[in-house]
Amino acid sequence: MTIDVFNPANNEKIGEVKEFTEDEVGSTIERLQNGFSEWSKRKPSSRGMVLYKAAEIIRADQDRLAMILTSEQGKPYFEARNEIQGVAAVFEFYASIAGTICGHTTPKSDYGYAFTSKFPIGVCGAIIPWNVPALIMAWKVGPAIASGNTIIVKPAETTPFTNMGIAEALYSAGLPEDVLALVTGSGSITGAAIAKNRNIRHLSFTGSVDTGERISKMIDPGKVRLTLELGGSDPMIVCKDADIDKAVAGAVTGRFYNCGQICTAVKRLYVADEVADRFIDKLKTATEQLRIGDGAIEGTNLGPLNNIKGLNSIKKIVEDSSSSAKVITGAKKLDGPGNFYAPTLITDLESDSRLLTEEVFGPVLPIVRFEKLEEAIEMANSTRFGLGASIWTNDMRNASKAIDKIRSGILWVNRHSRIPPEVPFGGDKNSGIGRENGLNALEQYLVEKTVIISP
Ligand code: NAD
Repeated sequence: MTIDVFNPANNEKIGEVKEFTEDEVGSTIERLQNGFSEWSKRKPSSRGMVLYKAAEIIRADQDRLAMILTSEQGKPYFEARNEIQGVAAVFEFYASIAGTICGHTTPKSDYGYAFTSKFPIGVCGAIIPWNVPALIMAWKVGPAIASGNTIIVKPAETTPFTNMGIAEALYSAGLPEDVLALVTGSGSITGAAIAKNRNIRHLSFTGSVDTGERISKMIDPGKVRLTLELGGSDPMIVCKDADIDKAVAGAVTGRFYNCGQICTAVKRLYVADEVADRFIDKLKTATEQLRIGDGAIEGTNLGPLNNIKGLNSIKKIVEDSSSSAKVITGAKKLDGPGNFYAPTLITDLESDSRLLTEEVFGPVLPIVRFEKLEEAIEMANSTRFGLGASIWTNDMRNASKAIDKIRSGILWVNRHSRIPPEVPFGGDKNSGIGRENGLNALEQYLVEKTVIISP
């Protein structure tokens, strides 16, 4: 079986990949078990050197890798380059800390001395989504191999070629082929085969809440550590004292970057009544200035949606809401080939509108006015999601109310969505379990052993 891959800017086929069967996934994992015995014994600094070298190769090859990413994912070329540079930065971060993995000691006591030592866990699994495929692969592969594990990676159906390019850079940097294996295929066959395999010790999944729930039922919970990075419906709260121009720019980037297909995109906007008219006017102007088109064309800052299913779901959710709502701009599919949808702003929604309760994975921004900050925070917390959130204010009292009361894995003040490699990232509520990025991620790939030495 093979899977066709298309360019979402014109829906022309750009290639195809093999679908790995359950048996093939099983034998790949056996190969990685063999690779584990050598790689786990390598000096940590030598593992770090491979990651440094891979980062160098990726930076040198970033133009080509970015073009592959644009052609299969749809994002504008400048965004694709940012993402590829992000991969290099993540590899450099984990390279720099590979040699610092250590346990701790406890004071001498009547039982003697005790200390802990950390060991790699074994063969890990990584299941990747299509929206930010390169960076999310790096978030999993970087800490896994820096800490001495081996890893099997399944790219999303629509974006396998970027992941293959990153794997090739790692091999060119000296990573043995039985440390990292890439298996292409569908979620239901290849992805499920990884989740069900009993030799996987850590599984990191990024994708939708529904798939995450399905995967958590497939694993052996007594044996597998599970990291789930799931969907979000991030609220952005703009207070009356916010810097309005900065907040407008933040809303445009926060919602329309990657055509709205970011887990931590701004998916609901709450604006203080006193500034709402001015804010919405400026936001409309900025939204209508976005240059929509093929991401490979210079100057494009809004590409197509990645796939037709996503386009149809955006069309439907907007159509279902628009009888009661007021469309400020957009709300239509654009003519011509490709999965293009006009950037959309909508107000006057019912509180139970799906635009406000579900994850909307595309360029559509619902806007709600509020009178009191407490009311905005209550609305911000009113979904099952808890990934990111932001508050825009120049008053520390407002910021600290949001920090205390908003249930989210990450909270930005006066910005939205940037996640540097050293910053832990993950969700609260239904948006996930565990953390990626930073030192925290490394811990998920290590087993701590306690040693007690009696006198
Ligand atoms: P998805 O859940 O449909 O697919 C994600 C991956 O899981 C793909 O590789 C897919 O093939 C695989 N998969 C699907 N069904 C499977 C199964 N039964 N068993 C094993 N694997 C299976 O998600 P998507 O549409 O690719 O990505 C978009 C979603 O990902 C959004 O909800 C977004 O918010 C979320 N996301 C979350 C984060 C985060 O860090 N929290 C980051 C990016 C994307």
